[in-house]
Amino acid sequence: EATVAPNFIRNLIKEELAEGQVQQVITRFPPEPNGYLHIGHAKSICLNFGLAEYFNGECNLRFDDTNPEKESQEYIDSIQEDVRWLGFEWSGKVRYTSEYFDQLFDYAVELIKAGKAYVCELNAEQMREYRGTLTEAGKNSPFRDRSVEENLDQFNRMRAGEFADGTKVLRAKIDMSAPNINLRDPILYRIRSVPHHQTGDKWCIYPSYDFAHGQSDALEGITHSVCTLEFEDHRPLYNWFIDNLPVPAKPKQIEFSRLNLNYTVTSKRKLKQLVDEGFVSGWDDPRMPTISGMRRRGYTPASLRHFCDLVGVTRSDGVVDVGMLYHALRADLEQNAPRAMCVLDPIKVTITNYPDDQVEEYVVPSHPADESMGERVIPFSKNLLIEAEDFMEDAPKKFFRLTNGGEVRLRNSYVIKCEEVIKDANGKIIELLCTYDADTLGKNPEGRKVKGVIHWVSEPHAVPAEVRLYENLFTDPNPDSNKEVNFLAHINPESLAVTTGYCEPSLLTAAPETVFQFERIGYFCADRYDHGVDGKLVFNKTVGLKDSWAK
Ligand code: ATP
Ligand code: MG
Ligand code: MG
Repeated sequence: EATVAPNFIRNLIKEELAEGQVQQVITRFPPEPNGYLHIGHAKSICLNFGLAEYFNGECNLRFDDTNPEKESQEYIDSIQEDVRWLGFEWSGKVRYTSEYFDQLFDYAVELIKAGKAYVCELNAEQMREYRGTLTEAGKNSPFRDRSVEENLDQFNRMRAGEFADGTKVLRAKIDMSAPNINLRDPILYRIRSVPHHQTGDKWCIYPSYDFAHGQSDALEGITHSVCTLEFEDHRPLYNWFIDNLPVPAKPKQIEFSRLNLNYTVTSKRKLKQLVDEGFVSGWDDPRMPTISGMRRRGYTPASLRHFCDLVGVTRSDGVVDVGMLYHALRADLEQNAPRAMCVLDPIKVTITNYPDDQVEEYVVPSHPADESMGERVIPFSKNLLIEAEDFMEDAPKKFFRLTNGGEVRLRNSYVIKCEEVIKDANGKIIELLCTYDADTLGKNPEGRKVKGVIHWVSEPHAVPAEVRLYENLFTDPNPDSNKEVNFLAHINPESLAVTTGYCEPSLLTAAPETVFQFERIGYFCADRYDHGVDGKLVFNKTVGLKDSWAK
């Protein structure tokens, strides 16, 4: 597609380069390792790594690991795997904010020495009260005027572990009456006597996000620190630290609007709740909007990158229709998914005029428009299965499938005619007796037009597969929007249905994670973990064929 949505950050950097304000572009993707990455992070990854690629610069991967109690190695590993799977590679080694803890501590000491930070002993409630509100200025803490010596002593003792968690914090001394609340003496350090996955027991005080983030950017020589709009109000503070500390570089924070998708929750905290409370099988459940879940569902890296291009980068908030995601996915799969036939809801078809033990093998292309994808062999015999909904006894004129007394083409095979409908005692159709026209293989029948084509499998050759059918995880377009109603109230109880499909035998050799177009049904992905275990085939429905997204 030629349409590429606007990316205002890219345009901005182009101007900066043209004016010589910037020589080399260095960005970073800074996840907190407290959960798996989701589709919103994919947007941030595509943006940050994409800018580096576009401007021939570099992008770092930095774990923003300042809240050790919520973080883990499992998350660190999954994040690296997801970034690489999306097709990006970070510059040099993986970085951790915790690598800079010594330097950040020294910066804090610099601020204390300059009379710009102090140790405060207000408790959380008092802290809130002193902070003031949007309309009301804050009040100075009674600890604000401690001497430099006292502050240094207190801060060193905080570090030495002399005080209990939560009893003291280090705060910047800025302005308690600043209209921007972030500048009302923000917290730089908290006491938390918890071990850290990277630094072990070395620290019992940890820097705040605000104090750590910009300085880490500066230490890495980041030129453009791209983040979501919630941090716009933090930018004056970001700049205050950069201006008041002897940092080696002056990174620039630029905000863009976060990705919101309808029928989807994109908050790690909420996704974690879905996992912890068993609403899904794990972070990589194919219904999850996590990168690993989408991967397991059958999304491809190219489809996610294409989606992020379509969404664009702006500063206006909005909710993207999940249909756009499906559209980007289909655009890729239509071109790149091999075709196969599978019947999900079978009825038997017996070709009465076909020899009992005869089997034909058709060699057909795996993709109608791409020879490079190779060929597959499809057996044909007297006993077939077709989709129940492809037969109708009393069909309207426009029903171009099989009807009683009517003809239809079997995909890649003959034209057949339904001669008799066999029903059980309850009137349920159990079998169709048909005849075939031997003169219709690869050519049109003599003297008549057969419009419909249906898919089928040879019953004795069909391979059963577990087929997992997915719907949206939430029934409400905005599961997250109503503060009164918990998002869990909108869980779709029918988001997963498991059925048996009857596959053409070529699918026996399908590798896990291959996505097929099951002709006339939709796209299905061989499950990354369960497919092939004990010889069992397992397919996840990725997305249907019909694209209803309007540009
Ligand atoms: P969540 O809001 O889901 O808890 P987070 O913002 O706390 O996520 P981080 O690990 O801090 O998660 O995010 C890493 C980067 O990804 C940040 O720069 C953040 O701004 C960006 N990001 C997170 N969610 C989105 C989103 N929905 N759209 C775009 N970027 C996002
Ligand atoms: Mg965060
Ligand atoms: Mg967040």
